[in-house]
Amino acid sequence: MLTRGKLSALTGCNRETIRYYEKIGLIPAPARTASGYRSYSDEHIRRLNFILRARALGFSSDQVRELIELSDPGSDHTRAEVKTLTIESEAEERVLEWDELVLATGASPRVLPGQPEHERIRAFHVWDDVKPLKIGLMRGEIGEVAVIGAGLVGCEVAEAFASLWGADVTLIEAAPTPLPEILDSELGTVVTKHLESHDVKVVTGSPVERFEPDDEGVTIYAGGSEIRADVAVVAVGVRPRVDLAEAAGISLGPTGAIRVDENLARATLWMRLPKTGRFYPLPAM
Ligand SMILES: Cc1cc2nc3c(=O)[nH]c(=O)nc-3n(C[C@H](O)[C@H](O)[C@H](O)COP(=O)(O)OP(=O)(O)OC[C@H]3O[C@@H](n4cnc5c(N)ncnc54)[C@H](O)[C@@H]3O)c2cc1C
Repeated sequence: MLTRGKLSALTGCNRETIRYYEKIGLIPAPARTASGYRSYSDEHIRRLNFILRARALGFSSDQVRELIELSDPGSDHTRAEVKTLTIESEAEERVLEWDELVLATGASPRVLPGQPEHERIRAFHVWDDVKPLKIGLMRGEIGEVAVIGAGLVGCEVAEAFASLWGADVTLIEAAPTPLPEILDSELGTVVTKHLESHDVKVVTGSPVERFEPDDEGVTIYAGGSEIRADVAVVAVGVRPRVDLAEAAGISLGPTGAIRVDENLARATLWMRLPKTGRFYPLPAM
């Protein structure tokens, strides 16, 4: 049963405010159980999130009421009415019209807490990350590599650096076995053996705590061990790049990526904010 307290915890809206929204009719009165307790539904969660988002964008309670009517699937306004995208650059500002907007801004490599920015500590994401590594390996300037994260990218990099370039590779993973997101420990052990047969040293159960880079290389402190390398490659996953979406008021899901429906899409109404004249999507219901 979804009590008012649980609804409050799920939405971050305090109970008194929920009570107030109920009183002024912004959210419907909840059903009652046989013993008389209020029982809220998923629809209440959606409606409340919508209201909170709209309030955060600066709409008054009366305006929120209008927005609710406007975004009601039963109303005439089911298609985006405002379809304008502003592209800003130093040189110019252009306004483009669109029918459907696809946000494909990708992801950025995840950075470990306290990870220093240093040329001896690199991501493996785009060519600019990879090029100096390749040149260093080809010239023999990089001999020892620590790869942090035994996910798909980390395992591939570790094996390639050892097999292709003869580097001395240590693969460091926090979980007990490699590829923990996709393999159980039994199969993970097979991967460990495979990597070891390609001269990769696999150090598992060892979360990286700290880096100490210097001009010659980097020392990595992980699970009680100190690992020294010429360079550390950090491959601990990616974070969705959602700055643009966030700035447009598009709601995010629990992973921090854009919240989508079962078709990986959002049906969005756009409207112009009176104050700024800018266009914003109405928060998803
Ligand atoms: C080492 C490595 C190996 C991989 N191997 C595989 C593989 O074997 N198979 C596989 O399926 N996948 C693989 N992947 C994953 C795959 O590369 C990604 O899933 C894919 O690149 C994601 O594509 P994307 O278009 O969503 O994002 P991206 O390729 O990141 O493209 C997003 C683009 O949007 C641009 N952008 C961002 N913000 C803005 C903005 N505000 N305005 C305009 N432009 C913006 C960025 O500059 C970028 O060019 C690998 C990834 C890595 C790092």
